[in-house]
Amino acid sequence: MDTLKKAVVIGGGIAGVQAASRLSGMDVTLITEEEYLPYYRMRIGEILRGSDPSSLLIHPAEWYEEKGIKIVRGAVSEIDTAEKNVHVSAPDSSDLRIPYDSLIIATGSRARTLSLPGGRKESHVLRTLSDALSLRKALLSADSFAVIGGGLLGLELAAEAAESFHIPVSVIECADHLLPRQLDAASSEVIEKALNAKGVEVITSGNAESADDDFLYLSGGRKVSASVLAFSAGVCPAKEIAESAGIKTGRGIIVDRHLRTSAPDVYAAGDAAELDGKTFGLAVHAREMGSTAAMSVMGCGEDYIPSEPSALLKIAGLDVASFGVPEGDARVESGGERRRTIFVKDGIVRGAVLINDKAFMASAKAMIGKRI
Ligand SMILES: Cc1cc2nc3c(=O)[nH]c(=O)nc-3n(C[C@H](O)[C@H](O)[C@H](O)COP(=O)(O)OP(=O)(O)OC[C@H]3O[C@@H](n4cnc5c(N)ncnc54)[C@H](O)[C@@H]3O)c2cc1C
Repeated sequence: MDTLKKAVVIGGGIAGVQAASRLSGMDVTLITEEEYLPYYRMRIGEILRGSDPSSLLIHPAEWYEEKGIKIVRGAVSEIDTAEKNVHVSAPDSSDLRIPYDSLIIATGSRARTLSLPGGRKESHVLRTLSDALSLRKALLSADSFAVIGGGLLGLELAAEAAESFHIPVSVIECADHLLPRQLDAASSEVIEKALNAKGVEVITSGNAESADDDFLYLSGGRKVSASVLAFSAGVCPAKEIAESAGIKTGRGIIVDRHLRTSAPDVYAAGDAAELDGKTFGLAVHAREMGSTAAMSVMGCGEDYIPSEPSALLKIAGLDVASFGVPEGDARVESGGERRRTIFVKDGIVRGAVLINDKAFMASAKAMIGKRI
């Protein structure tokens, strides 16, 4: 009897689970270093409000059993591309070697932090379910909260904390307006006002210089109350295990359009992968790449064409939607709290940002890449 080919997936995030679920006719192992079964990472903010971690699981344990996907808990510490196996350090300190015929690396990203002088003992990030539980615990007894980073995630976090914990919250952004990658200054002002109304103080052009256990000190001499401090300062692709296996990396793990890395039978997908000099950092691409990598493993892969980036968020009661990239001239239409900004470059619509303009979302999405 023929034995099934072995596919191993490293990382139980969106890309890893998608890849594992699409692999068929193979012996599939999904390795995850996290304490929980794969969960919806985008929803971990709900933990701050007291939601039960089990409500965030993508699938119950039985689903993996029914699909024949073996879950192995532990961190992959080494990939041996010559012998075609991975080395896993399990939580009980036992070590395993798992052989593969095909390997998909879907290790995602890690939150970036800054190392600040000043002797502060504790700071937080929001990347994993465990991070969210530990941040909630700290916020329950906090008397102030500061978030470094005024990007999408930082703002969501600040608004959530102000609403759920009723403590003074500050956001410190080094650019001269919030969401510098998505918005023009005027649109970001609409968001700033909504955040102020929820009790969030916004400090732009702010540079954190040091922190002790009570305050964050900014350049220019300003200090901000921060009995709890969180960093929301971007992410770095988790490429280390690929790098030390000699697989070609840049900012992430370099892949071609079939998501093949430089090592034979090794693929990469999701936040960890770099394609055409770009890393992604969005759930939609992680899911798409998970599928494409699985198809490539099964020999029926097609070229991966990333869909246009988009983000839908609720920030301080405002519906914010961003499509494409905010490049080129900004054409703005607004009325009250509704604001529509379309970015046009060389006559082509490159991006759109909508605030409280849900009715226009489908049209905005369809416009991206089209000549205006
Ligand atoms: C709070 C929050 C909100 C977000 N909101 C949005 C949103 O609204 N829209 C959007 O598009 N995106 C959003 N994102 C980003 C989105 O979640 C990511 O783009 C997506 O999770 C990437 O999926 P991934 O599978 O590539 O990686 P990840 O989800 O990061 O999963 C990678 C997994 O691999 C594990 N791993 C890493 N190294 C190893 C190892 N050596 N051994 C074993 N396991 C390992 C990690 O622990 C992790 O569990 C949000 C992210 C966060 C944190």
